Amino acid sequence: MSKKSSGGPDTSGQTPNSSWANRLMQTGTSSHETKTNGSLGGIDSPSVCTAVSGNFHPGVCVEMLRGLRGDHGCMTKARMFFTSGAPVQPHAEYESCGVRAQVMFCPIPDVLRDLLNLKCLSSPEEAQKFFLPAGNDPSDSIGIEFSEDGYFPDTDGWKYVLPDGVATRIRFRRRNDDDIVAEWSMAVRDIDIPEEYNLEAAASRLADAFELDQRELRFTDDANLAFQSYSAYFNILVAQARQDEDIGQAAQLGCCPWKLGMLSASLALWDIAWQQSEAPVADQTQPVLVTVNVVSRAFGLLEILESIVATMSGHSGTTAFTSVAAAAEATRKRKQSDEDHLSAQLQQSSPDRSWDPQAQHSGILDTELLRRLLMKAEKDSDTGPYIVKSRAIYNVARQKDKLAKPLAVSDFRSLARAVPTTLGSYDESKDCLILAFPKDNNDEFDIALLDHAKISSSALQAFWQNNCDKRKGKKRATKKPKRQDVPYIPVEQQLDDMTKAELRHQKWCVSFADLVQWSEKKLITYLISIGILWKFVRCPHCKTGKVCTLFSHSSRGWVQRCKGWKCRKFILPHSQHPFFTCAWGQAHIPLRQQVQVLFCNAARLGSGQVHILTGLGAKAVQSLSQRWRQALVRFVEQQQDSKPFGNLQRWVECEVDEVTLRGKRCGNRVAWHQYLGLLERGNRRSLVLVKMKIRTTSVKRTGSGKGSTGPAGPISKEEWKRIGSRYLKNRKILLHSDGARAYRYVKIPGVVTDAVKHKKPRPVYAALWKHRLPRDQAKAHSGSLKQSETDVMWVQKGTQLIDNVWRQLKLVGLPKSTKADEATIESRVREFQFHHWNAEVDKFKAASSVVAAHYSTMFC
Ligand SMILES: [Zn+2]
Repeated sequence: MSKKSSGGPDTSGQTPNSSWANRLMQTGTSSHETKTNGSLGGIDSPSVCTAVSGNFHPGVCVEMLRGLRGDHGCMTKARMFFTSGAPVQPHAEYESCGVRAQVMFCPIPDVLRDLLNLKCLSSPEEAQKFFLPAGNDPSDSIGIEFSEDGYFPDTDGWKYVLPDGVATRIRFRRRNDDDIVAEWSMAVRDIDIPEEYNLEAAASRLADAFELDQRELRFTDDANLAFQSYSAYFNILVAQARQDEDIGQAAQLGCCPWKLGMLSASLALWDIAWQQSEAPVADQTQPVLVTVNVVSRAFGLLEILESIVATMSGHSGTTAFTSVAAAAEATRKRKQSDEDHLSAQLQQSSPDRSWDPQAQHSGILDTELLRRLLMKAEKDSDTGPYIVKSRAIYNVARQKDKLAKPLAVSDFRSLARAVPTTLGSYDESKDCLILAFPKDNNDEFDIALLDHAKISSSALQAFWQNNCDKRKGKKRATKKPKRQDVPYIPVEQQLDDMTKAELRHQKWCVSFADLVQWSEKKLITYLISIGILWKFVRCPHCKTGKVCTLFSHSSRGWVQRCKGWKCRKFILPHSQHPFFTCAWGQAHIPLRQQVQVLFCNAARLGSGQVHILTGLGAKAVQSLSQRWRQALVRFVEQQQDSKPFGNLQRWVECEVDEVTLRGKRCGNRVAWHQYLGLLERGNRRSLVLVKMKIRTTSVKRTGSGKGSTGPAGPISKEEWKRIGSRYLKNRKILLHSDGARAYRYVKIPGVVTDAVKHKKPRPVYAALWKHRLPRDQAKAHSGSLKQSETDVMWVQKGTQLIDNVWRQLKLVGLPKSTKADEATIESRVREFQFHHWNAEVDKFKAASSVVAAHYSTMFC
């Protein structure tokens, strides 16, 4: 048959083929349906042909038919195909079809005698009393006489009717040991089949008639005319069923003409097998003729079969035959029998006439279903109405959370037709539901919507708008976003505003003019209020004594004083300050001028400019700036170690790169100061600069390129592993880097590294890239992950931001001298870092954070 037949016999005792055949016959469907259709249907098929119907279990079937096994009653319906009559009990004696009834006598065990209430058989005397009518000869006058062959009363015994209505015969037999046993007669069923009913002979007759391939079966002219009449009868019934809107019944009757042809052919073959054929069949070259008589019998048989189907499916009263049969059934059946129950159940399922709003086939209330369908509505065009297409049911059926079974298109149509006109109307031509969605608020529509779909119009509209883009097929097709759709900095990471970083867009809390003209008191109180000067609560010298309020001292200016009885020290406003100095004598610098220097440093003026502006000596300016930078080194290093990267909720895009700064030349060797920069895209405050080992290379003394030095070389894997783990480990970071080997090959937990390619032939700088990142950062380096465990992220590769940081560092951050020592470079780098963090804010005010960090450690 096909591939499936190669399976071999299975353990159930059936070959795959027989199971396939049985399924086809019982259900009418098969995985080989195409081939079945090809052999039975099609244009060229004659109206009469053969088909086998039934179930292939001949061994069991024959035994049941013969009554060797099972109760005859339960097989009656099955046997209706072959014969008709009252059920025959297996032990009942019968004669028919030329078969002589045979019986055997079996002993009745004592236990059965009691159970069947045959107490009279306890002894031959009792039995004689029971079976012989009263009033005859007195019992004592007749002795118990056994016949010569040892039976009482004789070989045939007494006739007795068992509780099931079957007649049997009862006798006593004297056994060889003089014991007497009661016996009853049973029918012998294992009889020899008469020669004319030999199945093998019948089969060979049938085979002989179809010895040649493709022998044709054909109606005689009369039979053909009769067939047309019968067909017309069925067609009339179809029309009636259609008028009753009972589509299922109409469909069943519609194929009756086909069935009639099949049955006629089967009966004709049956006749050939049993030598009852009216038409001659011997000539193999002639077609086998199906006579009118056969067609009439087939019609009768079909009526019976259809009636059985109709009765079982609850469609009684469709044909005249059915009503007669139903009436006969009703009188015969017991009340409350299983069959009654079954038939009542079948009656309850009403024909598929109209859509029942309360209980859909799915078992879900229509409000739920309609709401789900309405959520699938889409706009026909930009201005057109909202419509629900019939294909929406596929989407609805896919939401399996509540649906008992998938919906059919017919469900959609019945539902759409049942929608009230205030809500919308069903368009048959387009097979869709057109909503009458009002432009303005409409109470009538809202009420109908709530009644039928339990959703408000505003909620529905919101749902459409939220899901509109997702559903649009066109938009779904363009999966790859355009370049401008993927910002270099992810939207949710965008904290920076480039325009604010420019000084001309900023407004600081004070101006240089304020610092010049304000009175001493105002200057001090204002600086305390913004945090540049610390508001002392306790004495910075003894750390315990409380301080009094600010007062003007004759020689010291504005001071506070410790109340501690052992200390009693005066406290200047900038006492123990991180940037300001309290030195007396020659080195004394008034506070006002120190603040002005701080202001200039915050505005990133060069030392020469500060000298000119403030009128202070260049040395004084330099030492003050030095204090400022040293404070920044402490502050920045402490700050960058305390701020973690990422947020652990989603993947955060970061950039990494290293910069090399030339240091002092010492003899033949040049020092190289390398910093590694880490930056969260879009957040300038996240910039971390990590100082790496100082490398030295030798200067080339001879040959071409004299005086040049070799490169410092890229970051090593060990160094990157140490730094990367320190700042990024398990922080859910998507790290953009250049193609350095260290970044590419060191795997840091919770960090996915993305590299650009600078090298030829195909450098990739800012390529649009699709990342499939695991939701759980712990799986960042576990190879294959299920789709459900990952999120797609489109990114632009590259390290533009950190590259720009290096450019600025080299442009404005560093002294132009190539002789800078390590301390200078470090302080300049940290100053630059501080300015970068606070580029968008008031940098003078930002210095207060340095002051706060300084004093809070002092008083802890
Ligand atoms: Zn003190």
